[in-house]
Amino acid sequence: MRKKIVAGNWKMNLDYAEGVSLFSEIVNMIRDEQKGTQVAVICAPYIHLNSLAKLGGTTVKIGAQNCHQNESGAFTGEISAKMIQSVGCEYVIIGHSERRQYFAESDALLLEKTNIALKNNLTPIFCIGETLDERNNGSYFDVIKSQLTHGVFALSAADFAKVVLAYEPVWAIGTGLTASSAQAQEVHAFIRNEIAVQYGAEVAENTSILYGGSCNPKNAAELFAQNDIDGGLIGGASLKSRDFADIVKTFNS
Ligand code: PEP
Repeated sequence: MRKKIVAGNWKMNLDYAEGVSLFSEIVNMIRDEQKGTQVAVICAPYIHLNSLAKLGGTTVKIGAQNCHQNESGAFTGEISAKMIQSVGCEYVIIGHSERRQYFAESDALLLEKTNIALKNNLTPIFCIGETLDERNNGSYFDVIKSQLTHGVFALSAADFAKVVLAYEPVWAIGTGLTASSAQAQEVHAFIRNEIAVQYGAEVAENTSILYGGSCNPKNAAELFAQNDIDGGLIGGASLKSRDFADIVKTFNS
């Protein structure tokens, strides 16, 4: 059975004290609230990871927002998957649209990052999604198929089975424009079908596919009720403890 995941992405926000304070509030609000296959994750800036991994216990898992594609070496300013794993992180976001856009991360590079994350026992949350132009000109299925093909479909079935996907339409990220539940479900079903074609029905059935893009406590229930939506990647709302906790609790209502 696939996991139901709500993962927060704090992006480049919160100094050390603010991060510890927000995280502690979140842990207190959702302790004992999660059932069965449900997982809550906070993907924080690097400076927070060590402390949060200790504070999170079994209630909230910790993720990074990026990693370098190499194991170690002369890459000034970079952080490796091995380092991230060594402080107790279990997840890492790979290929967020902001990394693709502002840091020119290509599908080939993202495949390397996914491989090194898996080698270091991190679960990649691999992001895909179309821009507004691509949505409007009707090429979004092609765009998503291409991101999958060049990004993660080069993995073996055993490795792909460890990946979580996040469908994040770029036009919905941080804009307040959420994809409707029908729009999101249409793409999630398409993605699951592509996985089935590539790896077979069982792998497809067991892959968690999260929705991301202006998800909040008001729209989460309808989105998460869709057959192929297994939770969310949450940006802005993960910076408010009450909102994030309420989105996590959506699975219980
Ligand atoms: C994100 O950055 O992954 C995201 C989904 O942001 P927001 O929820 O703010 O749209």
